Amino acid sequence: MVAKRDCDKLNFTVGPVMSSPEILEIGGSQVPYFRTAEFSAVMKENEQIMRELMYAPDGARAVFLTGSGTAAMEAAVMNCLTEQDRAIVVNGGSFGARFAQICQVHGIPYQESRLAAGTALTAEDLAPLEGQGYTAFLVNLGETSTGVLYDLPLIADFCRRNGLFLVVDAISAFLADELNMEQCGAGVVLTGSQKALALAPGISVLMLSEEAQQRIAQHPARCIYFDLSDYLKNMERGQTPFTPAVGILLEMNCRLRELQAVGGAEAEHRRIGALANDFRSKIGDLPFELFAQTPSNAVTALRVTGKTPANEIFETLKNDYDIFVCPNGGELKETVLRVGHIGCLTAKDNDVLIAALRDMMAKGKMIP
Ligand SMILES: *Cc1c(COP(=O)(O)O)cnc(C)c1O
Repeated sequence: MVAKRDCDKLNFTVGPVMSSPEILEIGGSQVPYFRTAEFSAVMKENEQIMRELMYAPDGARAVFLTGSGTAAMEAAVMNCLTEQDRAIVVNGGSFGARFAQICQVHGIPYQESRLAAGTALTAEDLAPLEGQGYTAFLVNLGETSTGVLYDLPLIADFCRRNGLFLVVDAISAFLADELNMEQCGAGVVLTGSQKALALAPGISVLMLSEEAQQRIAQHPARCIYFDLSDYLKNMERGQTPFTPAVGILLEMNCRLRELQAVGGAEAEHRRIGALANDFRSKIGDLPFELFAQTPSNAVTALRVTGKTPANEIFETLKNDYDIFVCPNGGELKETVLRVGHIGCLTAKDNDVLIAALRDMMAKGKMIP
């Protein structure tokens, strides 16, 4: 029996997202053996282009982990922080809560800066944390669960003034929003393959500054699979300690080269930003309000103001129109719907989604 894997749905989620035909072709090819000079060269090139796209500082090095984005979040905390640290965690949604949970599980002392869902982080939120002896700051640049983009320059200034080691989860923000690792002084920047990179899920990337590498070197390994010093050592020869998701790393090479050829991270975040603005400009007559105070380009979170719950709109779009949008979990399940702008999408696709939503209204499947 052959399982059907191709999917003909138009996908506006925040991952996995739609890949280009070139990437799909690589995904459908045989996976080569990887302990070779050829694969090492691919890995080295992936590292080099990733450095450029993230504007990583001199001496920064990349680790490619086989695991979803959460693996990179956990590896960053496990390898760069100790019980001697005191971390600030920005928690305005489920990904912020995940950083807090990771700190808790690994015994890292932390203080949450709790924000109501959809709200921005402000100088007033940070003021009480000033000069309090904290050592690290963990933030999801884009809090994908609510669509909020946090103010990175504000955070960077706060971290510089207070001498904090900054970990930026840019898993959904990388390539979608402005991100300059050197300028923000981050010790670690994270991303994952299934967001704006638009590859299959399974690879996460950690870009590590020299300070991060020092922290890792001083740190005794707490487990085998997430021991980043082992990954850094292997990466000197373009390899990984264990079998990586070879196919996705090959997809990544194709995508990174293409990004570099068409103008780098800035061109891509302008493209995604334009797509997000296009969508937001077309929802005027639909029963939605923008949910995020400071929205990320990666995703538009919509508060549903009509009578049909958000999760029902998601189901109808999926079942009757072959369109995926992103439902929310937890408390926002019935009230917030998210529409992603990452992946292989165009303004024409936005029009298809808007037309489907209007048709739902006309047929009484979405009551305003
Ligand atoms: C997607 C995402 C993650 C990781 O989620 P995984 O399901 O583990 O890939 C982490 N942080 C943010 C901000 C994300 O958008």
